[in-house]
Amino acid sequence: MKVISDPKKIQAICLKLKKKGKSIAFVPTMGYLHAGHMKLMYEAKKKADISVLSIFVNPTQFAPNEDLAKYPRDKKGDLAKAKACGVDFVFMPTPFNLYPENYETYVEVINATRQLCGASRPTHFRGVTTIVAKLFNIVQPDVALFGKKDFQQYAVIKKMVSDLNMPTKIIGVPTIREKDGLAMSSRNVYLSSDERKAALCLSRGLNKIKENVKAGITSIDQLLKIISAEINSESLARIDYVACMDAETIQPLKNYEKQKTLFAVAVFIGKTRLIDNIVV
Ligand code: AMP
Repeated sequence: MKVISDPKKIQAICLKLKKKGKSIAFVPTMGYLHAGHMKLMYEAKKKADISVLSIFVNPTQFAPNEDLAKYPRDKKGDLAKAKACGVDFVFMPTPFNLYPENYETYVEVINATRQLCGASRPTHFRGVTTIVAKLFNIVQPDVALFGKKDFQQYAVIKKMVSDLNMPTKIIGVPTIREKDGLAMSSRNVYLSSDERKAALCLSRGLNKIKENVKAGITSIDQLLKIISAEINSESLARIDYVACMDAETIQPLKNYEKQKTLFAVAVFIGKTRLIDNIVV
């Protein structure tokens, strides 16, 4: 496994590999890797000849009041996990490598970013699409893997790739959860033990949606009331949003459509904002 920080260097390596006919699978992350990230890396190994992981806490997707400075980092642990997954290359640039002082170009998906996390974090997705477009130009991947845990991000990246005619295939990977149902997230490390218990209200609420849809309830209003009540019953939880959207366009959905209906939640547990979702 090679660890590279210089964008020009890894770009030259990737271009050379592609010239030799090798296919490349890419997993972009912000590090502090857990089993969810590792699932993406294992899937990447199956999809192409060469796998590339990037670890970069991308400053442009954090607003000034967010957790950029204290975002958890663990270079040594991350490299050990990447190695255990059999990753071929790890790209670990510095912010200056990717955003030199004179940087001024951004990529923006307009509509799919208006709702959900885009509503409460208005500059977030512009940072995400910009860094992913840059990383795609550097790594030249045939396929790139994204977790459905960040479902809106996955939908926004698919839209960017389609709209900008990028030749990379986007693969969505189901959410990996702790045994008790909590979606794995690098931010779970912020939770105290009481908050960790309280955080289960997200997956409990989403499971209730699944059960109710199975039982034949398809009124979106009713389903939103059910999940909101479940989350509000937890005293440490404060809802940022609970919403139902078309899973492809990320626009509000009036009527239930089988396998196209996204229920997404963002909830503050103490100071930590957690997200989760289900497509039913
Ligand atoms: P992050 O480092 O949090 O930016 O995540 C990097 C990639 O890992 C993104 O595509 C995420 O959606 C994905 N990811 C994060 N947590 C999970 C999870 N619990 N299950 C599956 N994928 C995940």
